[in-house]
Amino acid sequence: MNAVVRRAPSSFEILTPSPDDRTRARLGRLTLPHGVVETPQFMPVGTNATVKALDPDDIAATGATIILANTYHLYLRPGHQRIERLGGLHRFMAWDRPILTDSGGFQVVSLADSRKVDDDGATFRSHIDGSIHRLTPESAVAIQEALGADVAVAFDHPVYPSSERSVVEDATERTHRWAERSVAAHRREDQALFGVIQGGLEPDLRERSTRFIAGLPFDGINIGGLAGDETKVQRRETLDLVVGLLADDPRPRYLMGLGSPADLLDAVEQGIDLFDSVLPSRVARTGQVWIPGGKLNMRRSALLDDPAPIEDGCPCLACRRFSRAYIAHLFRARELLAYRLATCHNLTFTLDFMARIRTALAAGNLPESRAELRLRAGRSTLGEAAGEPE
Ligand SMILES: [Zn+2]
Repeated sequence: MNAVVRRAPSSFEILTPSPDDRTRARLGRLTLPHGVVETPQFMPVGTNATVKALDPDDIAATGATIILANTYHLYLRPGHQRIERLGGLHRFMAWDRPILTDSGGFQVVSLADSRKVDDDGATFRSHIDGSIHRLTPESAVAIQEALGADVAVAFDHPVYPSSERSVVEDATERTHRWAERSVAAHRREDQALFGVIQGGLEPDLRERSTRFIAGLPFDGINIGGLAGDETKVQRRETLDLVVGLLADDPRPRYLMGLGSPADLLDAVEQGIDLFDSVLPSRVARTGQVWIPGGKLNMRRSALLDDPAPIEDGCPCLACRRFSRAYIAHLFRARELLAYRLATCHNLTFTLDFMARIRTALAAGNLPESRAELRLRAGRSTLGEAAGEPE
């Protein structure tokens, strides 16, 4: 598939030493205006221009090199024009590394109190104060240009994977028309623009969407409409189809909304380069921390006497300084530090897991490392990934 090359606010290099027909996984390097992102990579989510409970130094210490911020949330509060007047999103949140802003489409569909989608755009009621708003492909691009992230995403119309065919078809065709309008509207030369493939679980619609989106001059390709209520088999088949069609397309592939280590490993092996999810940080705030092979519930009373760190050898803030006993106490007392420490740990665990995958890819032995990585990832937590917005 030949993509039209536009300009170059970003570049993507595939570094995998030699093609390995045992895996579609690839090692890459995405260069953006605010820095370099080694792929496969996970992006922590900073919904309201903050990764909940962490300051920018904490975020960097987890190993994050790029974060995601939500266009819908920042548009509603505090407003993209205010952020622009204050010097843009990087300065506003004091994060000087790469940022990706999402299209806003997913939140319009999943969060807004009521919505009406027509061919021109989406009208919705704010979940914060009930006020009425309208987003179009052009305004979603303008908002993201004002925020000034390294990567903007074309406005799309997502639907749940299990939606009936006519709904999926309608949303997919609309996403294509909106993708063209987004490309036409995008002006900022220091910002990459990614486009979103939809198509639900319908193979012919996925194929049509993949060909259409890949045919536009986007800098990266998002795969939308997954990490919802589909089964693992449905996801695998859909990714097989999409990545197979993309073949040697030179652009980064980003699967939106996936966050458990087991799911990340599966998707990397299917050829995905970028991920984001609220999962690691959200489950951390409920007291669930990830350890090799599974999870630890910090609210369990048995941990109140445990002097060990959450995970031996983990370089995170929580594990370097504090015991399970202390953190278990903080959760029971609902102390704010609990949320910060658990979030630092889960993001560090997730980003370290991605680093392990990259190390195996660089050494050309991901297939041999698969069993060990799978053991570390523990059980898949697909169910927890549903209901992404926060
Ligand atoms: Zn830790």
